[in-house]
Amino acid sequence: MPAMYDYLLLGGGTSCAYAAAAIRETDQNGSIGIVGASSEPPYDRPPFSKYYLTDASKQISDFHSKDESFYPDNRIDLVLNHRAVNIDRTAKQVEFEDGSKIAYGKLLYALGCTPREFHDHTDQEPMYLRTAEDSKAIRDRIASSKSCVIIGGGYIGTELAASLTARGLKVALIEQADRLQPGFPSRPVADAVRRELENMGVTVVTGEPVSHVYAGRRVITASDHEYSGDFVVAGLGHVHQRDLAKHCGLEMGMRGVRANMKLRTSDPNIWVSGDVAEFDDTVLGDVYIAEHHLHAKASAEHAGRVMAGLDEPFKNVPYFFSDVGPLSIILRGYPERGAQSFVFGNPTSPALTEIFLSSTGRLMGMVDVRKDYKQQDPISELFENLIKNRVNLSSHVERLNNPNFNLMSLNELVSV
Ligand SMILES: Cc1cc2nc3c(=O)[nH]c(=O)nc-3n(C[C@H](O)[C@H](O)[C@H](O)COP(=O)(O)OP(=O)(O)OC[C@H]3O[C@@H](n4cnc5c(N)ncnc54)[C@H](O)[C@@H]3O)c2cc1C
Repeated sequence: MPAMYDYLLLGGGTSCAYAAAAIRETDQNGSIGIVGASSEPPYDRPPFSKYYLTDASKQISDFHSKDESFYPDNRIDLVLNHRAVNIDRTAKQVEFEDGSKIAYGKLLYALGCTPREFHDHTDQEPMYLRTAEDSKAIRDRIASSKSCVIIGGGYIGTELAASLTARGLKVALIEQADRLQPGFPSRPVADAVRRELENMGVTVVTGEPVSHVYAGRRVITASDHEYSGDFVVAGLGHVHQRDLAKHCGLEMGMRGVRANMKLRTSDPNIWVSGDVAEFDDTVLGDVYIAEHHLHAKASAEHAGRVMAGLDEPFKNVPYFFSDVGPLSIILRGYPERGAQSFVFGNPTSPALTEIFLSSTGRLMGMVDVRKDYKQQDPISELFENLIKNRVNLSSHVERLNNPNFNLMSLNELVSV
C-alpha cells in the first residue's frame, strides 16, 4: 500500500467505485486509492434487500459495482479492511485503526450510513441490514426458519417483508407510526404497499411502538402485544457517518457533511458524495441530502470529475426507487417540499402517480407506483425534464384536479 495517493477515496462503498471511474476518465496519470473498512470490493446495495434474498443462487460478487478487472485495468488500488480513525487535515493524511497512515492530495469522504440500532430493552440485539454480509446472515437464517418479525415499516422493512414472504416465511411487520413508510411523502403509495404486503400474507401492524425484544425472537409492543418469530430484523433508519469529518473540523450540515454546489467541503482538498453529502441544490434551491443509490452514483461521478479538474455545479434531479415484491416505486425531485398534491390513476390496481407542487404552484416532485415498471421510464423522464425546467403548474390546477388527466400531456411544457 503506497504512503500517498493523489486521489484518496475513503469509504470503499458504492460512491467510491463510481468516483474512481470518473476521475480516471479525466486524469490518466494521477494515483487513485479506494480505502474502506469493508472486506468486499465496492458493491451496489439495492439487491441485498431484494434479489439476493429471494434467489439463493446469487453471490455477493454478482453485485459488485465494477468487475474485478476494472481496478487493475485502470490502475486503481483497492485497500480493504481498513477503518479510518482520524483525518489530519494539516498533514493531509488519514490514520487507520491498525496504525497505518495514507497521505492524500485530494480526499473524497464517502462513509455512508450505518443502521440505527435498537438499544433499549433488549437482551439480544435484532439483526440489521446494511451490508452484503448482513444480507447473507439473513439469507442463512431463512434456510432454517419459518417465521420472522420485522421492526420498522420504512423501505428496508417493507422490501424485506416482501422478500422473506417470497421465500415462504410467515412475516409480521411492526411500525410505530400510523402508516407504513412514514418518512415517504406519498400516503396513497404507502397504502398501496400495505395492501400488496397484506395480499402476500404479511401481518402488517401500524401505530405500535416496539418496547422490548427478547432473545432475538420475541417482540413486545408498548400496548403489550407480542409477536414472535424465529428471528427479528430491525429497519429503523440510518445514522450518517460524519464523526470523522466533525472531529477534524469540517463544517457540518443538518444531517450530513456540508458542501457547496460542486460537492467541495469547507476544506478545499476534501469532497463528499453519497449518503453523507449535504450541499446547495442548484435545481430548485435549498439544501439537499439523499440516501439513494442513484444519488450516490451521480454525486460520486460528479465529485470525481470536479476533483480531477471540472469546474461545474452538480445538477441532478433526485431519483429514488424501491421494489416491494411486484410493486415498483419511483420518486423524482423533492415531493417532501410540496404544499399541495394531486393523485392520478387507480390506487387499487395499483397504478398511481402523486405529484407535489409548492404553495406558489411550482412542481417540486412526483411519486409513482405500479407493477409494470417499464411504464415508469417515460413518466420518470417527463418529470425530470419538468423539474429541470422549473415548471409552474398554478394555471393548470383545474386540469390537475381531474384524476383521469393524462399526465404525459404535460410534455408540452418541456422546452429542452
Ligand atoms: C439493503 C439496502 C437496500 C437499498 N436499496 C435501495 C434502493 O432500492 N433504492 C435506492 O435508491 N437506494 C437503496 N439503498 C441505499 C443506497 O444503497 C445508499 O444510498 C448507497 O449505498 C450510499 O452509498 P455511499 O457510497 O454513500 O455509502 P455506502 O455504500 O454505505 O459506503 C460507505 C462505506 O464506508 C465504509 N466506512 C464507514 N466508516 C468507515 C471508516 N471509519 N473507515 C473506512 N471505511 C468506512 C463502510 O464500510 C461502507 O462500505 C439501499 C441500501 C441498503 C443498505
